[in-house]
Amino acid sequence: MAATDAFIGLGSNMAEPSAQLAGAVARLAALPKTELVAQSAFYRSRPVGPQDQPDFVNGAAWLRTELTPLDLLDQLQAIELAHGRERIQRWGPRTLDLDLLLYGNEAIISDRLTVPHAELANRDFVLQPLLDLDPERVLPDGRSLADLRQQCPDNNLQQLTPVARTLPPG
Ligand code: ATP
Ligand code: CA
Ligand code: CA
Repeated sequence: MAATDAFIGLGSNMAEPSAQLAGAVARLAALPKTELVAQSAFYRSRPVGPQDQPDFVNGAAWLRTELTPLDLLDQLQAIELAHGRERIQRWGPRTLDLDLLLYGNEAIISDRLTVPHAELANRDFVLQPLLDLDPERVLPDGRSLADLRQQCPDNNLQQLTPVARTLPPG
């Protein structure tokens, strides 16, 4: 099977968020049939939903994988559990949230999976890390990340770390 470019959104606002994200990227790089292409900068952002919780740290990872979308989701959820994720409150605090943002040029709607991620266009903390990774990228419906970022409400993202590429382009 040919490898597909998949983009994973990373978020945490508990137990040393930046360390949670760095650990998650290491686990993503170690997944079977998967290579890490690059990781975005990490950003501090205000929480979505309940405001009585700490700021989040968000980022994204670019993978090249032969895992199917559902196998990849299983792997993401296993990594969340390994990081002590508990689901207490919708959009509440969490040690680690891994979302499948993009999977090649596929549009998927199923019980467990909506890809591109349903809220992607409304979240600067998702769009900005994706733009770090691949500024030219266009969604399956033809909208460009750059246009979406311009139309997205600004949430005062603060960049915390530089962008890191691990594989050569191509
Ligand atoms: P949001 O989806 O608004 O970012 P969240 O990340 O807090 O909210 P979760 O509790 O982590 O939501 O996930 C709820 C469910 O969303 C998961 O069980 C999963 O089946 C489903 N889901 C649908 N599409 C995706 C996707 N693209 N990536 C990850 N999970 C998804
Ligand atoms: Ca999420
Ligand atoms: Ca999630």
